[in-house]
Amino acid sequence: MTTFQDFALPEALQHKLDALGFDKPTPVQERAIPAALEHRDILGSAQTGTGKTAAFSIPLLTKIMNHADVYGIIVTPTRELALQVDEQIRAFLSAKSKIRSVVLIGGASIERQVQALGKRPKIVVGTPGRIIDHLERKSLDLSGFNYVVLDETDRMLDMGFSAPIAEIFSHVSKERQTLLFSATLPKNIQKISAQYLQNPVRIEMGQVNSVGDNIVQSTQFVSKDGKFEMLVDALREHDQSAIVFMNSKFATEKMAKRLKSAGITAEAIHGDLRQSKRERVISNLRDNKFRVLVATDVAARGIDVPHIHQVINFDLPRQTEDYIHRIGRTGRNGAQGIALNLATRDDMEKLNDIERLINPNAAKSAHNRPAGKPARKKPQAKGRWRNKKSNRARAA
Ligand code: AMP
Repeated sequence: MTTFQDFALPEALQHKLDALGFDKPTPVQERAIPAALEHRDILGSAQTGTGKTAAFSIPLLTKIMNHADVYGIIVTPTRELALQVDEQIRAFLSAKSKIRSVVLIGGASIERQVQALGKRPKIVVGTPGRIIDHLERKSLDLSGFNYVVLDETDRMLDMGFSAPIAEIFSHVSKERQTLLFSATLPKNIQKISAQYLQNPVRIEMGQVNSVGDNIVQSTQFVSKDGKFEMLVDALREHDQSAIVFMNSKFATEKMAKRLKSAGITAEAIHGDLRQSKRERVISNLRDNKFRVLVATDVAARGIDVPHIHQVINFDLPRQTEDYIHRIGRTGRNGAQGIALNLATRDDMEKLNDIERLINPNAAKSAHNRPAGKPARKKPQAKGRWRNKKSNRARAA
């Protein structure tokens, strides 16, 4: 069995890992840490919640502690993820460590970021837009940065960040090590990898595009009118923290209000909220101050709250690959989780796309199904077309 001691990490870092209860490396860490310490580029696909943040942070901190000239930049698709990565890195550093990191994200004071950059931090964590802002203002000089991490790259491409990524690569050191992580490895990611990585070690944990076995997925078919009642039923059934996904910002606000009127504490999170408000909502969720987060995809990306037990897709995602990111908000670090899709008659095609993504072998049989028959494998259909009446019958 591999332990963190096998990696011969700096004493201060090993000490912190012990204190944090990181007893043994997760599978992705077991493979990525030695490869990164040997200066290899990495193309990694890992299920969400598998410890990939530590997989790229531990080698970076080791290098910084052992060599004077190592600087790392970690690029993430969302503000929340950048904050979480930074939080993880800080947790690995002792209070008296001189290693500084700075978070460069939109919605936060640019002047304060400029000031922090003036202190020559060893680590920059940020979203593409704000990093580019600083490059343009010349408040950020990336020429010495030689450890580059792209986190959740598939998502960054979905969000249209390929040009900013190219721009960032044109500024970092040519003598760099590059680590690319992505929940899924579609063709466009492999193209990016060929462009920016050199002979990468490929680390694929489990089946590509798969979700953990610890997440039980199911689909309830329901009429549009019966959806809300079904949602409330599902939330009451489990009585634990949950994220409800919706496709529009306005709808999340409305839903949070409706749930509150139904006696279920809820808050909405979406891209139009001020950064400080978004952070407050997530911190309140973490502290169990309310039970249900109603979210859009962008806002919920990267949220790592271990006690989220249930993810409910009130709307199925517009982009099929978001399904994996969504349900990865539960079942963090091996915990049990459940994912429920509330699907209407119009969602049949989307469900088939999702099934094809997470279960490519079953997809062949999906093609052969008589038209209109729901997918029977993953995600499993628990019931057929439920409406208010059958729902009541179930509750009775
Ligand atoms: P991530 O996949 O990076 O979002 O990590 C998921 C969660 O697992 C985070 O809360 C980490 O702090 C935690 N974690 C990561 N690696 C380990 C480990 N080796 N032992 C215990 N907890 C870990």
